[in-house]
Amino acid sequence: MADERRFAGIEAGGTKFVCALATADGRILARERIGTADPVLTLSQTLEFFGRAGREHGAPAAAGIASFGPLDLDPASPAYGSIVSTPKPGWSDVNILAAVRDGLGVPTRIDTDVNAAALAEGRNGAAKGCHTHAYVTVGTGIGVGLVAGGRSLIARGHAEMGHIPVPRAPGDDFAGVCSYHGDCLEGMASGPAMAARWGCPAQGLAPGHPAWAMQAHYVAALCCTLIYTVRPDRIVIGGGVFEQPGLHAHVRRVLEPMLAGYGLAPHERDLDTLIVAPGLVETPPGLLGALELARQAADG
Ligand code: ADP
Ligand code: ZN
Repeated sequence: MADERRFAGIEAGGTKFVCALATADGRILARERIGTADPVLTLSQTLEFFGRAGREHGAPAAAGIASFGPLDLDPASPAYGSIVSTPKPGWSDVNILAAVRDGLGVPTRIDTDVNAAALAEGRNGAAKGCHTHAYVTVGTGIGVGLVAGGRSLIARGHAEMGHIPVPRAPGDDFAGVCSYHGDCLEGMASGPAMAARWGCPAQGLAPGHPAWAMQAHYVAALCCTLIYTVRPDRIVIGGGVFEQPGLHAHVRRVLEPMLAGYGLAPHERDLDTLIVAPGLVETPPGLLGALELARQAADG
């Protein structure tokens, strides 16, 4: 019998909430963009959208939220599902999970935007068919989502791999821009780090500029750490900075001597299939991931 259920997906970002009502196979029936303002207003507009869309297309059976963070993702915590201490005015300690679950009255799951994007890449994108994979975004920040067996690998909390310490690239004396750590991975290799180091936004740097070798070094260091800890079948790298043509290939070239052939499974020796670009480009992967979280909420 056809699955007639409807699912609600919310990509909750610091600038906008993208909401969609979709069928069980992921076809989007209604979609709305709501500016992120005061939390009471934004969340009530979100619930109103699903009310309208549900009356037209059928009410959702479950909801999923892919949210900016940091988030409390410990199911045992009283603040489970809350945004924790964000600089975004008014949003610290807002329990977005409870607001959506109670407002819609359906099972609801929440995860980070990057974990949700990782789930979506696993279901239908560049990591389809993988057991374990990582999704890395290099943009305004650096985030890493980890998935194993179709679920977020970390059951309580979420990875913060954007902030790992990294070995400096030869000759790099840049102080780094992370307000906590200075020269952590994000401090050295995020879009704002590149802009601060080179004096112009990353998209303005010519293909032969030394910036790209340095960028490849730092992201290869992250890949090396991922390979030796999580053993992913695939590492999908996206985000604005990786719009740069040839950057994935550059990371592979730098990574190979970094690994030095040590301790690699056969699939880890083939860097062309291990390190790839995202497969999902048309619909935001965070929104697709939110719909995947809704399916997981429905299935328990
Ligand atoms: P966000 O992380 O805020 O969601 P993006 O993933 O789009 O947004 O990342 C924005 C960053 O990506 C900016 O720092 C910008 O300079 C950089 N960027 C955008 N387009 C390109 C490009 N074509 N090449 C390199 N860097 C880019
Ligand atoms: Zn940091």
